[in-house]
Amino acid sequence: MTTSLASDADIRAVTRCLLFTERSVVRLRGRFPTGAGCFQCGATHPAALVASTAPLHCYSCLLGRATEGNHVAGSGRGPVLELPANAHRVFSEIEALRNRFLTDEVDREVGFGLVTFAAMRVSTLGCWDPAVKR
Ligand SMILES: [Zn+2]
Repeated sequence: MTTSLASDADIRAVTRCLLFTERSVVRLRGRFPTGAGCFQCGATHPAALVASTAPLHCYSCLLGRATEGNHVAGSGRGPVLELPANAHRVFSEIEALRNRFLTDEVDREVGFGLVTFAAMRVSTLGCWDPAVKR
């Protein structure tokens, strides 16, 4: 078995990841009352729900289509991946987190692990596609 020491940059990235991810979870959970969902499709993920709608609707139902393109590198860069429209909203939340806790000095594998952690934490806050059986 091999072990490696984490760099100071990696340790700072872990701290930022935990802080910003939990801050995001608290913010998203506070956006709507428990059990709130899209009037039309039943989606419940707080990143997918649109606060200014009454009755409450999700982004996909307002958009009127199920999917949209997402630049995987962010900010209009890189290949485009077609995602469920509501999943794109969740993806963007995680992307914004990634941009806050990763730096060029962070080890690649550490970065992958931190982004995976943030994605798991944020993506499980609700359902963005009620048509998918879980
Ligand atoms: Zn909907």
